[in-house]
Amino acid sequence: MEQIPHWIDGRRTAGESTQTSPVYNPATGEQTGGLLLATPADVDAAVTSASAAAATWRASSLAARTSVLFAFRELVHQHTDDFAALITAEHGKVLSDAAGELARGLENVDFACGVSNLLKGDFSEQASTGVDVYSIRQPVGVVAGITPFNFPMMVPLWMCANAIACGNAFILKPSEKDPSASLLLAQLWKEAGLPDGVFTVLQGDKVAVDGLLTDPRVDAISFVGSTPIAQYIYETGTKAGKRVQALGGAKNHMMVLPDADLDVAADAAVSAAYGSAGERCMAISVVVAVGSVADPLVEAIGRRLPDLKIGPGNESTSEMGPLVSAAHRDKVVDYIDRGEKDGATVVVDGREGRTDEGFFLGVTLLDNVQPDNIAYTDEIFGPVLAVVRVDTFDEGMALINSHKFANGTAIFTRDGGAARRFQFEVEVGMVGVNVPIPVPVGYYSFGGWKASLFGDTHMYGPEGINFYTRRKVVTSRWPDPGSSSVDLGFPTNA
Ligand code: NAD
Repeated sequence: MEQIPHWIDGRRTAGESTQTSPVYNPATGEQTGGLLLATPADVDAAVTSASAAAATWRASSLAARTSVLFAFRELVHQHTDDFAALITAEHGKVLSDAAGELARGLENVDFACGVSNLLKGDFSEQASTGVDVYSIRQPVGVVAGITPFNFPMMVPLWMCANAIACGNAFILKPSEKDPSASLLLAQLWKEAGLPDGVFTVLQGDKVAVDGLLTDPRVDAISFVGSTPIAQYIYETGTKAGKRVQALGGAKNHMMVLPDADLDVAADAAVSAAYGSAGERCMAISVVVAVGSVADPLVEAIGRRLPDLKIGPGNESTSEMGPLVSAAHRDKVVDYIDRGEKDGATVVVDGREGRTDEGFFLGVTLLDNVQPDNIAYTDEIFGPVLAVVRVDTFDEGMALINSHKFANGTAIFTRDGGAARRFQFEVEVGMVGVNVPIPVPVGYYSFGGWKASLFGDTHMYGPEGINFYTRRKVVTSRWPDPGSSSVDLGFPTNA
């Protein structure tokens, strides 16, 4: 059984770890590896290495950093198939989806390649007589990224590309469920010329996370995962004086107005609800069907579901793979049971597609879901789509705005005025107009509102550069020594 190690100081190492956590192939249900779980001594070794590296990396020239980023970008491109195979083997998603997450992740490397432009400061000449004022951005120091299972490459790339470009040392604590892609990532950073210690992988669970949260040498934490853990990370990290951005869970609504193109809306709902088995933070999990569109829309969605091909992620015919673990699959089944008990109509029942070999589940469509149904209130994070019927746009808007999660949402309509109103009034961080999964491109920033985000900084793009740098303002004068005198008055500008 392969033991999956850490990457500290530019090499694979088992460190002091003795405990392991099982890693599975979700398509077969077999254990394929044992993840070495970091001890406090391993956390110390990782942070010690990163601290030393941060001190020299911050002094590297922008030209040197940019050339590492370009080389890294090229290497990741060359290894697309290797990454996709690693992701599919441990996560279960289909290969094309795994390659897709890599492509979206690489947008952040593209963006970070422009770091020399992004770090430009401001300069005001002659702010006062003979005085110039300018601002500079400096790295924060050692920054850690704690990431979820559902995007083992894209989410680490959201963080590490910008963090490293800005001159920080980055410690990745990947999900224990699919940790192997992170080691290939580390190897490619090294091949690209990144000095040892600037990128570290610390494998582990709560022990590793708590070590990073409390070590005073760690300056900032980026987190993506479920809401309860995001809140814990935010509260613990900020209490320890760190900068923290923590992205949480989601329940993404897609409102469909009666004037929407029915086939476009049904195709979008099916793709966005069941892609990656619904294990996407931007998956559509609720369709809000307005007025007369409900009956034909439910029929159109239901008609598409028998055609979906569910199978192992590494088979080219598969469109949807298994869920990540047996425990998660069982949790999703439990939600379907409870949703039905709470009064939902089961139009298509994915429980019939549950298998003993591998962690497969079929797709489920629930209709007539009421706002107090547990299948509506909770994030299920599986291939389950709930339809809530409302009479009006206003009723749908009130429903969306009263949900505790506010990550992404979308409207499907041919009415520009309604779409404009939706964008203006909806209290959600990322909005799609006839786009079901509106993940912003790498030169914007990603983040939800309410219980989907703790902290005030969204991830990647311009806000990522803000998060990974500290601003400094310099006021400078080169006086003529002959004109110097003592003056106890408060300095004013003239
Ligand atoms: P999770 O919260 O269980 O785990 C995320 C990370 O936190 C992992 O690295 C894990 O090891 C660590 N962790 C787990 N429990 C911990 C604890 N008690 N103390 C300290 N650390 C702990 O999330 P997950 O199941 O891996 O991922 C799915 C969740 O992530 C979903 O809720 C999904 O919506 C969310 N997610 C959100 C976004 C977003 O951008 N908002 C993106 C992807 C995933």
